[in-house]
Amino acid sequence: MVKSIVQTQNTFFASQRTRDSHFRKQYLKKLMQEVLKMEDAICDALYADFKKPKFEALATETQLLLAELKLAIKHISIWSRPNPVDFSWTNFPSKDWIQPEPYGKVLIISPWNYPFMLAMAPLVGAIAAGNTVVLKPSELSPNTSKIIAKIITAVFPPEYVAVVEGGVEVSQALLAEKWEYIFFTGSTRVGKIIYQSAAENLTPVTLELGGKNPCIVDETASINLAAKRIAWGKFINAGQTCLAPDYILVHQSVKGKLVEQLKKNIVKFYGEDVQSSTDFARMATEKHYEELKQSLEGEDLLFGGTCSDADLYISPTLVNEPQIQSGLMEGEIFGPILPIVSYSTQEDLDRYVLHYPESLALYVFSKNRKFQKEIMGRYRFGGGAINDTVIHISNKNLPFGGVGHSGMGGYHGKHSFDLFSHQKSVVKRANWLDVPMRYAPYNIPIRWVKRIRHLF
Ligand code: NAD
Repeated sequence: MVKSIVQTQNTFFASQRTRDSHFRKQYLKKLMQEVLKMEDAICDALYADFKKPKFEALATETQLLLAELKLAIKHISIWSRPNPVDFSWTNFPSKDWIQPEPYGKVLIISPWNYPFMLAMAPLVGAIAAGNTVVLKPSELSPNTSKIIAKIITAVFPPEYVAVVEGGVEVSQALLAEKWEYIFFTGSTRVGKIIYQSAAENLTPVTLELGGKNPCIVDETASINLAAKRIAWGKFINAGQTCLAPDYILVHQSVKGKLVEQLKKNIVKFYGEDVQSSTDFARMATEKHYEELKQSLEGEDLLFGGTCSDADLYISPTLVNEPQIQSGLMEGEIFGPILPIVSYSTQEDLDRYVLHYPESLALYVFSKNRKFQKEIMGRYRFGGGAINDTVIHISNKNLPFGGVGHSGMGGYHGKHSFDLFSHQKSVVKRANWLDVPMRYAPYNIPIRWVKRIRHLF
């Protein structure tokens, strides 16, 4: 099945139909209509997968995607045009331009934590740029995977866009084929497998991976607001957000106040009995639930720590000063558990932040501009925010992606179009003048050649 899809997509791409931006636009419009029609069904699927609250399903999955679609539909004709650039005097007379070109067949592999948006948002960029796509959603969110397949089948012929559902074996069968671009969102561990397999064919890749995102709160921060914004960013999607603050580094002088405010806000958001709140999601898989539950063993809990095996539920939990070598602090937490570590000096911060590879995000809460600037520049991370968490993802003008161990390549809005386009450089020479200087035998004075740089 995989082989035949690949063959039909090769033929379809070679037919040149996707070169026409009007053709792409019509399909993006159809996709938008179908998503709007299915919006409630998508929310139901997300609820069935891990009790994702409807507000979160709409705000963080369907509406974000619809915004991407709206933008691409509006600008696709302009984005697809050749961009004229200044000519070089060495080629005079000429017209020079950059022509954005589709790569060909794109493979998109997506994770389970925002299973709709993270599968569909890259698809918008890939289609806008004129590629064909095979999309493999995560097997760990099966209801969402089914609805994605239903939507795509209703909108696209499989030679243009196809969904292949399944787990690791299916992913491996897909990776065994030759692609012109691979876009992967998931763990750093699997990201390395994808990168290796892409290297076989020198296929360009985007890797959207995870990391241990620090959240630094200094003594000047507005603590009440910081606690509210941190609790929101951490516990949305029950902490299963690649951009969620992973752990807090708080100045020791304001730690007590921050902890009190975090507790207050958790109760304000979800009530005293979080398990019965309709606004709090569950762990998506039993394996992940068990790992998280185990990571709490032996830790000093400041709040929460309630687990329910039957429901894969873990309550919002605050952990006091875990050891950096502990199971909890070993890797990305990816759940509603928030370690709180106090610091006094810049060296303390370095010791923690630099202990881990590059994170996908970093947050700093402070009123001290010098400190904000220092923290934003001092560490390597994909993107971040000053005095908030997670929200940088909502600005389409900001490329979303990691660096180093948290990935490579950034997308969203126009950045998605550029990511999925090869920037082809073209020079069109005129024939009425042909300066003989470059041809052998080279008999122009060397002192002239030594000044040739002024013509480039
Ligand atoms: P994962 O890496 O386990 O799986 C992602 C996809 O890869 C799935 O479709 C899966 O079927 C496939 N896969 C799994 N093992 C494979 C293998 N051996 N060979 C080929 N394909 C394989 O990730 P996950 O558990 O679904 O998602 C959680 C991770 O994703 C977290 O680390 C999180 O930080 C990261 N993430 C990153 C972003 C981002 O945008 N940077 C967004 C969401 C999640």
